[in-house]
Amino acid sequence: MRVWDAIVVGAGVVGLLTAIELASRGVEVLVVEAERPGGGASSRNAGVLHVVQPPPGRLRRRLAYEGLKLYPRLLEDLGVEHVETELIIPAYTRVQEALTPILAASIKALAAHSKPKIERGRDVLRREPALRPGVRRAVVVGGYITLDPEELVSRLADKAVEMGVGIARGRVETIACRNGQVEVIADRLGTLEARVLVNTAGAGAAELARQMGLGVEVKLAAGAMTLHRRLGVSSIVSWFPSRGVRETKGGAVIPWPGGRVILGPTFSKPGQPPHSPEEVVSRYSGLLNVEPPSPERYIVGYRTMASKRDFILARDERCGLTIHALGIESPGLTAAPALARRLASMALSVLKDL
Ligand SMILES: Cc1cc2nc3c(=O)[nH]c(=O)nc-3n(C[C@H](O)[C@H](O)[C@H](O)COP(=O)(O)OP(=O)(O)OC[C@H]3O[C@@H](n4cnc5c(N)ncnc54)[C@H](O)[C@@H]3O)c2cc1C
Repeated sequence: MRVWDAIVVGAGVVGLLTAIELASRGVEVLVVEAERPGGGASSRNAGVLHVVQPPPGRLRRRLAYEGLKLYPRLLEDLGVEHVETELIIPAYTRVQEALTPILAASIKALAAHSKPKIERGRDVLRREPALRPGVRRAVVVGGYITLDPEELVSRLADKAVEMGVGIARGRVETIACRNGQVEVIADRLGTLEARVLVNTAGAGAAELARQMGLGVEVKLAAGAMTLHRRLGVSSIVSWFPSRGVRETKGGAVIPWPGGRVILGPTFSKPGQPPHSPEEVVSRYSGLLNVEPPSPERYIVGYRTMASKRDFILARDERCGLTIHALGIESPGLTAAPALARRLASMALSVLKDL
């Protein structure tokens, strides 16, 4: 039986980038994917490369910051269409207007690469006429990029194949260490062997890690979004936050390439069903001066939240040939190139130790 240098479980943005990183260093890689490339959150997200990051002290913040710097070159290499834009947070009431300096200061503490500005309402409305009139002032943060995540995943899958990475369809059911190798059993594919395994199975990663004895609790929360055409929006527009900005990844009106616009996501509590398209539209339509046309698509993705709300990258204690990526929630898309570098270097050090 062929023994692969590395098996990567899951062809999401993290798994594909990890496979590409490994292949670029001469490692023979097989990616095993249960559905299709991008079958999980990687093609069902808002497509925003975030500038405002999670609070300091979290790996999520550090990797998203690094990832954001790596993207421009990556998008150019892959030829992925994208929009360079800004985030506008309009103040519509006197209270919000008075709070804009506080909001700008809190965002400054969280933002990477970009300083928020406070602008006059009429200047913002001139630039973004699709906004509901009556803006008094707005906090504006530059340096954002948006993209269609399905396009990104499909380009990454093509690039991986071009670089000699194998992509096979099968759901990994068990992983075990035997005789100095990792043995994987997957439906459709049977038994596979590798010298190192990287578990980037997104919502499925915790289950595989648990099976191997790594007890990490991960909760899933549904995030719902609607996709529209003819909304004429060119900036990301978000509601003025009512409870501080510690978690800044609330939904927004988000321009995508090709004149498309995403509304959302709105997240349900773990275990609850996703919000309906009508609920999503009604939450954001108040930011716009027109009623959004019926959505072209309703998109639901699942956020995978680890207990400390941080990414976990761990070498398995029992089977040191296995590396797990757990709790890869937002800004996981932004962080993906940096996550992949970390995971690839962990895998390379396993291969070197053998
Ligand atoms: C609604 C929503 C909006 C978001 N918006 C943003 C955003 O704007 N910006 C941002 O930075 N981040 C965003 N995120 C987060 C981002 O989408 C994720 O962090 C990122 O896509 C995770 O990628 P991944 O490769 O780790 O996982 P996934 O994309 O979930 O990939 C895992 C893959 O593994 C496969 N798989 C699972 N189990 C198995 C198994 N047993 N065997 C084989 N294959 C398996 C799945 O089919 C899947 O294809 C958002 C997330 C959600 C849910």
